[in-house]
Amino acid sequence: MLSQEYSIKIAHLYPKLLNIYGDFGNILALKKRLEDRNINCQIINFDIDDNSCEKIYDCNIFFMGGGQDFQQHEVANDLKKYKEFFSEKANEGNVFLGICGGYQLMGEYYKPHNMDKQEGLGLLDVYTVASSKRFIGNVSVKIKNELYNGTLVGFENHSGLTYFTSQKTKAIGDVIVGNGNNGEDKLEGAYKNNVFGTYLHGSFLPKNPQFADYLILQALVTKYKEKIILKVLDDEFENLTHESLFNKSY
Ligand code: GLN
Repeated sequence: MLSQEYSIKIAHLYPKLLNIYGDFGNILALKKRLEDRNINCQIINFDIDDNSCEKIYDCNIFFMGGGQDFQQHEVANDLKKYKEFFSEKANEGNVFLGICGGYQLMGEYYKPHNMDKQEGLGLLDVYTVASSKRFIGNVSVKIKNELYNGTLVGFENHSGLTYFTSQKTKAIGDVIVGNGNNGEDKLEGAYKNNVFGTYLHGSFLPKNPQFADYLILQALVTKYKEKIILKVLDDEFENLTHESLFNKSY
């Protein structure tokens, strides 16, 4: 079992602007699952008025939630200052998780309806363009085997359609119920190394404990550069929630 000397720092990016549909629950889930394993967890909020990435320099997980187009515009402008920093952190193997708007801004760009194109961090080889319709509803996903054999559940609410620009970035899974990235290719989410983006709100991680642990493990292995086995937690309630939602469109 891991002892107290193990610790993980989580950077919550732009919580004042990108935090809709309960996305803060993802931070809470990561913190709880780390502390239930006796691993110290520190959450550092990073917002536009911080004006420097110094406070998140040694973070191991970077989280960005969803938001409306206007809030994304403000964040996109601020992110330009840190593009090289976040690219360096991603290349080191640190974990990134973007939900919906946060996902879109981890890609190359997001083009809203009536606003200028928003430049993204370019951590994922995807781009997003707003459509005339809005995808709203439950989503069920079968994870692609390259990651692990499992399923995901969540709730989508987006007008953005996300498309891949390179095979270096892969889809997280196949859509069983719902729309996912664009409602056309029946793919959901994207990942490249340890950078992950998904349209699943909900909150996402509390309902998908196996995925939460996958992220935690990647962050620990990147930080400590050793083989790590996570203590198995009692996820009876989380799994019942997951199963009650899987393959349900209502
Ligand atoms: N504004 C973006 C869209 O509509 C993202 C929405 C969200 O984060 N839920 O696609």
